[in-house]
Amino acid sequence: MSDENLIKAGLEIHRQLNTEHKLFCSCPTLLSEESPDVKFLRRLRPTQSELGQVDQAALFEFHRGKAIMYEADTKTTCLVEMDEEPPGKLNDEAVEVCLTASLLVNAKPVDEVHVMRKIVIDGSNTTGFQRTSVVALNGVINVNGKTIPIDQISLEEDAARKTSQTRDIAGYRIDRLGIPLIEVTTAPVLHSPAEVEEVALAIGNTLRATRKVKRGLGSVRQDLNISIPNGALVEIKGVQELDLISKAVQLEADRQVALLQVKEELSKRGLKQENIQNDHVDVTDIFQNTKAKILKEAITKKGVVLGTKLPQFRGLLGKELGIRGLRFGTELAARAVFSAGVGGIFHSDELPAYGIVAEEIVRVQQRLQTKDNDAFVIVADDHSRATDALNAVTERAIEALSGVPEETRNAMPDGSSRFTRPRPGAARMYPETDVASTPITQQWIAKLKSNLPETQEELIKRLSDQYSLNQKLAKQVADSDYLILFEQICTKAKNIQTSFIATMLTETCKSLEREGIPVHAIDDMKLKTIFTLVEDGMIAKEAMPDLLKWQSKNLSSEPRDGIQALGIKMLSDSDLEIIIDQHIEKNRKLIEAKGPAAFASLMGSIMSEVRGSANPRSVSEKLKNKLAKKP
Ligand SMILES: [Zn+2]
Repeated sequence: MSDENLIKAGLEIHRQLNTEHKLFCSCPTLLSEESPDVKFLRRLRPTQSELGQVDQAALFEFHRGKAIMYEADTKTTCLVEMDEEPPGKLNDEAVEVCLTASLLVNAKPVDEVHVMRKIVIDGSNTTGFQRTSVVALNGVINVNGKTIPIDQISLEEDAARKTSQTRDIAGYRIDRLGIPLIEVTTAPVLHSPAEVEEVALAIGNTLRATRKVKRGLGSVRQDLNISIPNGALVEIKGVQELDLISKAVQLEADRQVALLQVKEELSKRGLKQENIQNDHVDVTDIFQNTKAKILKEAITKKGVVLGTKLPQFRGLLGKELGIRGLRFGTELAARAVFSAGVGGIFHSDELPAYGIVAEEIVRVQQRLQTKDNDAFVIVADDHSRATDALNAVTERAIEALSGVPEETRNAMPDGSSRFTRPRPGAARMYPETDVASTPITQQWIAKLKSNLPETQEELIKRLSDQYSLNQKLAKQVADSDYLILFEQICTKAKNIQTSFIATMLTETCKSLEREGIPVHAIDDMKLKTIFTLVEDGMIAKEAMPDLLKWQSKNLSSEPRDGIQALGIKMLSDSDLEIIIDQHIEKNRKLIEAKGPAAFASLMGSIMSEVRGSANPRSVSEKLKNKLAKKP
């Protein structure tokens, strides 16, 4: 986009709370690593009264008719999550974290917290709804001199986590169900990708200041809503990493610009909605002897190949939408997959390919009576699925005439997004009668107000003073999910410098994550143990990144096993002396010629042998002593 001020974006940040127990029961707020000991299959059937309030998007998912296989184990799940028992009282500790966060952004707490039911019928909640409650309204957060309105702060229950998906059954693990989530919503007043990211960081810092939020991937989900002039409001769900936010905003703006270009081109070509006929033509016979694997398979299973013409779309289906790999044809395919459950579609702009050859293409074109500027789409499946798929393709093609459709999309790891479903209407909520409301008394607020956590500026200053960190490191720690852990490790450490601990937990962990190493998955206990190993001289500081790498791939093993596996045990003093003596012996001539100046060269060769298994300082001391003694 040339003028990024044209972007209008808002943020919705969800973060898991690290409370003692879940929102409505006494189960721990932990994800299970055990194998499930409870399994049950359900088919969600909302009652008619509920369906009366269900919007188009929800119905859409319901009609896909999928069954849900829930898995649980009794350590992290009870009858509440299984919807066999009514929910208990709303967790006061979770309410208190939300109130503290609210006070930090000057939001006004409600008088009473009322739990509401929000219908969710994708299976991620065993009840068919998610419990949510507004805790405070109308706050502000100051970011780079600009005041950003915080519309709302809510407390919600996290949903079950999806673990599998086949054509007919979705699998969910319900350990995550009921973990408290704080939700912070900004007004849609953000105007540049960088600004959205800065505001997300500021909100993240505010939440961390409560010291009661979980860390690590999966503990934060950032949803964006983005529109550009003449575009449409699009929700991007589940951006997990902060540094992907600005890219996600930019790519969505670019996608909307590209879709407006498609619209303009179609209008130039004179395409009108009535020109797009939803005629499906059976072209199965053309592919009787095809080399195209997917078509062949479908035909073998007594399926059909159906085709439809998209007039004037030639060249546009292959048009890239702001990022490599995302094309207009991808959007058509996503709709077909969503609505019909087909594996995908083939469109003429990408053919010949996938084993479909020129001769077959010409025959399809003849059969569909395409003209120069026309495109076509074919799909192979059973007759009913193929029909649904082409209906969805046609519907999406018609929407191209108006530019950008409103929709919900899923964030991808590269910052782009993929269609997930049409945008739901306003939240469908009704009161949760099983849970009593929680009054927010003046005394409660007064108590929290007198005990507010330090601000980000105060925190950076304290870290810098207390742990002798420079400004940059102090800010990095303050911005990091490892803040609490950092302070805990520093309190115990005597032999390792606080700046080393800070660098490891911020820069090193970040760069390892960037290499795709999931350091975040290592739990606090094991991270502490790894620092203790350095503290006790069991491993060298330099060996720590390797041990972190190993640990993140061997989550259930102990760090000590890693020392063994990697062979990074520190050399004993006597072993180190032997190695140094060997190097001196080998370089006797050099030492005689150069005298003390030989130190640097010897130090280099010794370190290249013992790096990671000896402390450079003690190598240097020992070497100096020995050189001083030699004639
Ligand atoms: Zn429970």
